[in-house]
Amino acid sequence: MDSFEVVCVEKLIMVKYGELSTKKANINLFLKQLKDNVSFALADMDVQIQFDKGRMFIFLNRNNFDDVVESLQHVFGIHEYVIAYKLPHKDSDIIANNVLKLVQDKKFKTFKVVTKRSDKNFPIPSMDFSRKIGGVLLKNIDDIKVDVHNPELMVNIEIRMDAVYIYFNNVKGIGGYPVGVAGKGLLMLSGGIDSPVAGYMAIKRGVRLECLYFESPPHTSIEAKNKVIELARKLALYNNDIKLHVIRFTDIQQAIYKNCPHEYLITIMRRMMYRISERIARMNNDKVIINGESVGQVASQTLTSMNVINEVVRIPVIRPVACFDKLEIIDIAKKIDTYETSILPFEDCCTIFVPEHPVINPTFEAAREYETYFDYETLIYEAIKNHEVIKISSHENKEEFSDLL
Ligand code: ATP
Ligand code: MG
Repeated sequence: MDSFEVVCVEKLIMVKYGELSTKKANINLFLKQLKDNVSFALADMDVQIQFDKGRMFIFLNRNNFDDVVESLQHVFGIHEYVIAYKLPHKDSDIIANNVLKLVQDKKFKTFKVVTKRSDKNFPIPSMDFSRKIGGVLLKNIDDIKVDVHNPELMVNIEIRMDAVYIYFNNVKGIGGYPVGVAGKGLLMLSGGIDSPVAGYMAIKRGVRLECLYFESPPHTSIEAKNKVIELARKLALYNNDIKLHVIRFTDIQQAIYKNCPHEYLITIMRRMMYRISERIARMNNDKVIINGESVGQVASQTLTSMNVINEVVRIPVIRPVACFDKLEIIDIAKKIDTYETSILPFEDCCTIFVPEHPVINPTFEAAREYETYFDYETLIYEAIKNHEVIKISSHENKEEFSDLL
């Protein structure tokens, strides 16, 4: 082109909502939550966020672009985003020059131009304008051609009322619903592989998590507890901070061990865990319990065992990994970076006091009978009264925990 006038463009991230925008009735709630979550994730950065019903715009100011993108990869509710360039001028030659400048450092052989013109005062119809821009690219860049079906590079031009936005291929976000839109849930978080994955999957559907960990000192170590804290910290990245409840379970486990037939140790122990979980959940307005049980994985996770264990609570129990193979669970654990922590070799309270032959098909009657052999109500009351709450921040250098939970 003769004159190569390039005006100052502003770089920003344009978020597309995907599945969100189909939730007509709740859209405002969803968008407000998403905006809050994005603000929270980017709290340490100097960004400005604007949104309307179709798009969210994140203006980067002087931030390192990679840091912003990395943080956004932890925000559920973002399905796709693009790196966009905002141009205040609506002059067609200026737009063409800027598109040319922006594509010059990209490697592609085929491309397609798509124009959306919501500002109908712009004089050139969308199709004509796409053709014009395509012509400019073909004339100025060697060895490229148009492919309308499967282009390597998409050149999108949106002529909106406020400005022109130029952007290229979509980048995938992590999808899901904004954390918080579904309400709160209590994750039974052990040091194993399964429960952090279960928690992640619940967050993905918009459930804001609190966590509950049963420890049995001195049989379980401080390292085992620190491992759970570390797992909670990894989940906090997706959850906007996390509250971890720690229940001292030693007295209850010892009472079961002393008083009940050993093949029922695990069944009764898990009934106690469920009872405590339900009470902690009700006290904190958590609407569900979430755990990492997986059908058939161990004796306490046969369908019969699940029935006998589940009967002691009325709150819904969600088991996101119930039908996953272990290898599928491990894949997700690696993806969310909890796997290496989970496999650290510290004893969990489930792995001590394990009977040689746990019952695979427990009966309701036996479980009900055996647990009358000790005064579990008093022990549960004491354990809940003395439980510890640890507030875990996803922003490592942020001391204060903001009261979002
Ligand atoms: P693994 O990955 O080794 O199976 P796990 O944590 O899944 O570890 P399980 O014995 O299969 O261990 O327990 C089933 C579920 O019960 C866990 O996923 C977790 O949700 C809950 N749970 C077990 N132990 C604890 C604990 N100490 N504190 C809190 N929740 C626990
Ligand atoms: Mg398990």
